[in-house]
Amino acid sequence: MSNYDFAVVGAGVAGLSVAAALSEQASVVLIERESQPAYHSSGRSAAVYIEGYESHVVAGLTRASRDFFFQQPGKFSEHPLLHPLGGLTVGGADQLAAFDDHLATWQPGNPELHEISVSEAVEKLPVLNPDWIKRVSFDPSMQGIDVHELLSGFRRQFIQRGGKLVLGQAVTGLNRTDSGWLLNTSALTTDQSSEQDISARWVVNAAGSWCEELAALAGLAPVGLTPLRRTAVLCSVPESARHWPMVHDCENTVYFKPDAGALMVSPADEHPSVPCDAQPEDIDVAIALDRFQQITTMQVKRVAHRWAGLRTFAPDRNPVLGFDPLAPNFYWLGGQGGFGVQTSPAISRLAANDLLALAPIPDPQRAQLHVRRYR
Ligand SMILES: Cc1cc2nc3c(=O)[nH]c(=O)nc-3n(C[C@H](O)[C@H](O)[C@H](O)COP(=O)(O)OP(=O)(O)OC[C@H]3O[C@@H](n4cnc5c(N)ncnc54)[C@H](O)[C@@H]3O)c2cc1C
Repeated sequence: MSNYDFAVVGAGVAGLSVAAALSEQASVVLIERESQPAYHSSGRSAAVYIEGYESHVVAGLTRASRDFFFQQPGKFSEHPLLHPLGGLTVGGADQLAAFDDHLATWQPGNPELHEISVSEAVEKLPVLNPDWIKRVSFDPSMQGIDVHELLSGFRRQFIQRGGKLVLGQAVTGLNRTDSGWLLNTSALTTDQSSEQDISARWVVNAAGSWCEELAALAGLAPVGLTPLRRTAVLCSVPESARHWPMVHDCENTVYFKPDAGALMVSPADEHPSVPCDAQPEDIDVAIALDRFQQITTMQVKRVAHRWAGLRTFAPDRNPVLGFDPLAPNFYWLGGQGGFGVQTSPAISRLAANDLLALAPIPDPQRAQLHVRRYR
């Protein structure tokens, strides 16, 4: 049996980033059920970096990740992790109050965000429908993230620092021992079933939408995380669309952005789901296209691809970090909702500092992130 300081469960962006940070100073095993990392939420995101997003707590974590993305300490990758995108937020005739709220919430923290006229917006993006849009703001600071490069960088760091990556093996049992945990694992994705026991002093729960299930294996009560399904549609568009900014409506009922030579459109849906390999439903695809066609002058002729992914939220929509007061040596790293990629540098640093018992990073928001708030 192999013994480690840390067993990190789940190789999405949360698990990969914290495993990379921990492996600098400790022995770490990262266990993933699928045959490749990031098969679930982390491989299905919209890949954007927006500082004014979700809440002021999330905005703080995103800003704390900024230097990592822009400066890449320690030559993380040979390629840039971000590319300029820019973002338009539009309001229709029945969204005027919501548009005022959008400006009041995000403008104070972001001097670059400013209102522009509808004709200026149409100059930036000629397919916008000037009859539908009544108000519009532009945020030049919005960025696209190269998620593949980010995940490859964390994986590379982890392996170079001596971390052990176990793929195609699910954690199916968690038992307390005198020195920590015994993890039972089984191969669920191959015909040949193989079992392996791993022991570790600490378990890090980075199981994404399955965080509650993993905690239940340790005998822990739920904290209230709910996976919410979100749909994305990839439409064929003219070559010029590669340079379009991202567009949201101010009530967050639709967004679209250039993606891999096509246009990703989402109805920004949030359907409660069990943890699973999420699949898109026809009705959500139809809603996405209908809303897109209202705020633009385009008719979508061909859908090239569609997918869905789970965004997992705590009741207050803040991440859930920290040692569970009910189980020593069990650390939560869940609830990253729709911001887990853009906040991964800051969240993994906070978590690694806790786990390695390093000097805490001063963070006034810490109580709002700690799992203790649900215990
Ligand atoms: C459509 C969509 C758009 C999004 N857009 C953005 C965006 O623009 N910017 C942004 O920052 N975020 C975005 N997100 C959110 C982001 O993708 C998530 O917050 C993030 O990927 C969560 O990462 P994770 O590692 O917690 O989860 P996951 O990537 O789901 O990883 C968890 C892993 O744990 C594994 N696992 C679970 N249980 C076990 C077990 N018992 N044993 C072994 N392995 C196990 C799973 O197989 C899985 O691979 C978006 C999400 C979606 C769906």
